[in-house]
Amino acid sequence: AKAEGGRRVRVFEPDMEERQHQRRWLERELKLAIESGQIALHYQPLFDLTTNAVTGLEALARWHHPERGWISPGEFIPVAEATGLIDALGAYVLRTACTDAMDWPGHPRVAVNISPMQFRSGDLDQLVEQVLRATRLPSRRLELEITESVILSQDRATYDMLTRLRRLGVRFSMDDFGTGYSSLSSLNGFRFDKIKLDQSFVRNLLEKDEAAAIVHVVAELGRTLRITTTAEGVETPEQLARLRASGFSEVQGYLLSRPLPAAAVPRFLLARNDL
Ligand code: C2E
Ligand code: CA
Ligand code: CA
Ligand code: CA
Repeated sequence: AKAEGGRRVRVFEPDMEERQHQRRWLERELKLAIESGQIALHYQPLFDLTTNAVTGLEALARWHHPERGWISPGEFIPVAEATGLIDALGAYVLRTACTDAMDWPGHPRVAVNISPMQFRSGDLDQLVEQVLRATRLPSRRLELEITESVILSQDRATYDMLTRLRRLGVRFSMDDFGTGYSSLSSLNGFRFDKIKLDQSFVRNLLEKDEAAAIVHVVAELGRTLRITTTAEGVETPEQLARLRASGFSEVQGYLLSRPLPAAAVPRFLLARNDL
């Protein structure tokens, strides 16, 4: 929208019609992309801070559009969630990740991000069971990354679903810990195997006393509850040193490894001498 009479405020207002158009385009293209296998998975390793071993790798969806180039998950996941395409996308990611993980030397875990929306359909446990059976991946090698918003919905159906998934033997990781409204209450009720502290705390670790204090408290929480604590978004040796000193269990970030194309993972794992 153009400003009138020298008022420039409206210039920054998003053009509704244009945005709607973009969104419809994205929705149409995403549907095709899922159906035609245009979505690829990259895998980012997680490292044990004591042994340096790769404990697992997180699947991250990548979309290369033939005309528009790379579209980030930050852009297409919300569209998938708003349009219901997340169920098809989520099923594709789970199936592909479990299939890929079967070829990994040393048998590290595979972590898969699950959208809160995937809990709505009510058959997530059936999907997971079916994929585990079809790929023959041992259930303990599958880790589901869930944000605390899932837990905070606090309804019976969600709790029952988590319980059914747990019975399959999969592990649960609480993603983006610390970014929700009441992170602590989300730990109260359902037992997680891992807390993944949100990368915003790691980013501020050396500059802000608050972030440093939170890192210490979360490490202590993990020790007390006997659950793994993972810090994501580790980019500098200084951050790594601080996390190690705090007693975090695991780290993930560009300093240690960027997300790797699926085809590069077996060689990456073989080249590490901790196998
Ligand atoms: P997330 O699950 O919190 O994943 C971590 C994000 O941080 C990834 O971005 C990763 O590439 C990035 N990252 C890793 N290390 C560093 C670092 O050292 N510094 C910085 N600045 N960033 C780092 P990505 O791949 O763009 O994914 C963004 C988000 O999209 C993910 O956040 C996740 O919420 C969502 N997502 C990605 N793939 C999937 C998927 O298959 N299913 C679902 N439901 N969501 C997905
Ligand atoms: Ca994640
Ligand atoms: Ca995260
Ligand atoms: Ca995130």
